[in-house]
Amino acid sequence: MDFAFVCGWCDSDVTVWGEPVASWWTDKYELPDEWECFYCEGVNVTPPPPWTPAD
Ligand SMILES: [Zn+2]
Repeated sequence: MDFAFVCGWCDSDVTVWGEPVASWWTDKYELPDEWECFYCEGVNVTPPPPWTPAD
């Protein structure tokens, strides 16, 4: 699932892919600790959940 974040460097809306974690009791996703903005290539640290699912 894609999650929506805002780049802390250029304020762009960025979607980050969250890998589904196999578990039978809840829906969980695993995101990288940090991600690179598609627009400015700035590195952002993933904030703690809950995250906003991207449309
Ligand atoms: Zn950026």
